[in-house]
Amino acid sequence: MRPQDLIEKKRDRKELARDEVAFLIRGYTRDEIPDYQMAAWLMAAFINGMSEAETRALVEEMLHSGVTLTHDQIAEPKVDKHSTGGVGDKTSLVIAPVAAACGVAVPMISGRALAHTGGTLDKLEAIPGFRTGLSLDEFRDVLKRCGLALIGQTKEIAPADRKLYALRDLTATVPFQPFMCASIMSKKLAEGIDGLVLDVKTGNGAFMREFEDARNLARMMASTGRAMGKRVVALITDMNQPLGIWVGNAVETMEAIETLRGDLEGDFAELCLELAARMLIAGEVESDLEIARDKARDAITSGRALERFRACVEAQGGEPRVLDDTKLLPQAGEQRVITAGRAGVIAGVETDEIGRVVMDWGGGRRRLEDKIDHAVGLRLHAKIGDQVDAGDPLVTAYYNDESKIEEMGARLRAAYRIGGSAPKSEPLIKAVV
Ligand code: URA
Repeated sequence: MRPQDLIEKKRDRKELARDEVAFLIRGYTRDEIPDYQMAAWLMAAFINGMSEAETRALVEEMLHSGVTLTHDQIAEPKVDKHSTGGVGDKTSLVIAPVAAACGVAVPMISGRALAHTGGTLDKLEAIPGFRTGLSLDEFRDVLKRCGLALIGQTKEIAPADRKLYALRDLTATVPFQPFMCASIMSKKLAEGIDGLVLDVKTGNGAFMREFEDARNLARMMASTGRAMGKRVVALITDMNQPLGIWVGNAVETMEAIETLRGDLEGDFAELCLELAARMLIAGEVESDLEIARDKARDAITSGRALERFRACVEAQGGEPRVLDDTKLLPQAGEQRVITAGRAGVIAGVETDEIGRVVMDWGGGRRRLEDKIDHAVGLRLHAKIGDQVDAGDPLVTAYYNDESKIEEMGARLRAAYRIGGSAPKSEPLIKAVV
């Protein structure tokens, strides 16, 4: 078998057999197939599509490129949540401790900010001292002691995805459903989970802008997980505006801590309670969704979820006092209020542009190896449908690089579409698969 024959096959819209997918993935992971050949194959698949059987083969090969964890020493059901990525999405920081406080163990392996989307690891690393690079033994130990552990992908877990994701990022082949399904599910299935809640984002801040594409991806991932014996539910949720009222790293960690402290107003808390409730169902610690939602809420209002998070922060080397005083998180030196240029109703927000402003100001990364400024952040004062007058605050920007303020201020103002009438309101949770 030769890589060029498999590139030719995909170029000519033919289906690869199981052993051919295996040859490509194993060869690439072992550095026997060079980047340029893999890149050509990725683009051919991106353009010509992949069958269900090819996608399933890709998931299994990527999963078995590394270790699959087991947690025999933990009696609780193991459940994780994964989001396909958005702007202002810090739900993991809330729902992992909530689910843990309700009797579900959460072995969570998360990602970093990439392009306009944020990443859970960067938000956690805004907490002074917090280590996301635990060894697998440390990961298991924290999980056993705290009921949750929050780490980044290790070199042992789905190494094929590590290499492939970096190559996809450089070859414009990220937003393709079979690749996203294989990338996400190979890592999640390696965690040793019994259940999984997927939050598939759709809208102008998501990889899947169109609802139909998001639903296809949700179905693909859910059926892959179920075929492997896991309880999987996928929620398709709105990403036509940032989630919550803060975007950045330290500021999103602060918002998550405030939610854990009992601030349950707004779309962010609503989504957290729903995702956490779904985790309790996936873990079979509860069978009724309404009761599961009440339990999730009670885990917050009783303070139990916050204490779980405190235990996890401490166990992973972080400064636990940030939970009592969020001013201990990195703070930006400068701030500026961006105001509305005219009166009207917020008719739309360019969500990806809001994410890109944070990235371009140092709060995100273009390449995985880029360093970031955790203190950069935006406080959003207006949501879609809100009425504003000329001069009302739209965004307060917190930043360190003053040289970019004029450009960023203009971009932020332009990211808001102010119209004469309120747009049709979109449900936060659009569908359940
Ligand atoms: N997140 C992942 O882990 N993989 C993708 O392909 C896209 C988002």
